[in-house]
Amino acid sequence: MPTQGLIKTFMDCIFCKIVGGELPSHKVYEDDEFLAFLDIGPVRAGHTLVIPREHHETFLALPSPNAGKLWQVAQKVAKAVVKATNAQGCNLSVNNGRAGGQVVFHVHVHIIPRVESDGLTLWPQGKYETGEAEAVAEKIKQAF
Ligand code: AMP
Ligand code: ZN
Repeated sequence: MPTQGLIKTFMDCIFCKIVGGELPSHKVYEDDEFLAFLDIGPVRAGHTLVIPREHHETFLALPSPNAGKLWQVAQKVAKAVVKATNAQGCNLSVNNGRAGGQVVFHVHVHIIPRVESDGLTLWPQGKYETGEAEAVAEKIKQAF
């Protein structure tokens, strides 16, 4: 049984309730700090969510060491998901903030197993106007 210790939880958070065992889930991995379970509304069978036990709303709000560990665990879980579902690839994604499509405000990484014939498409691709890429790249560099 992993030790939970004094970790931040949120009473109204459904993922904290899954961590605390108040809500059921199909767990596929757990350790002292992280949990992975099947998404209740899968894009494809095996769609898995990886979460830290500790409540943090968004990926950007995660302390940097926790963010690193989350991706390490996500990689480990993704390998198992791909193997178990005979997938040819996978998507790992984090929806960040309401505008980023986030609905559950307890940070989580989606792992979606993919096959070439699954018909899913990713985001549409745009095109930069002249000078626009240079300008936005410069703004991002100045934002660190
Ligand atoms: P997001 O838009 O990134 O916040 O995605 C939240 C995800 O959580 C969705 O894909 C939901 O299907 C999933 N979800 C919501 N409630 C549960 C639950 N009780 N157990 C498992 N997955 C859930
Ligand atoms: Zn939570």
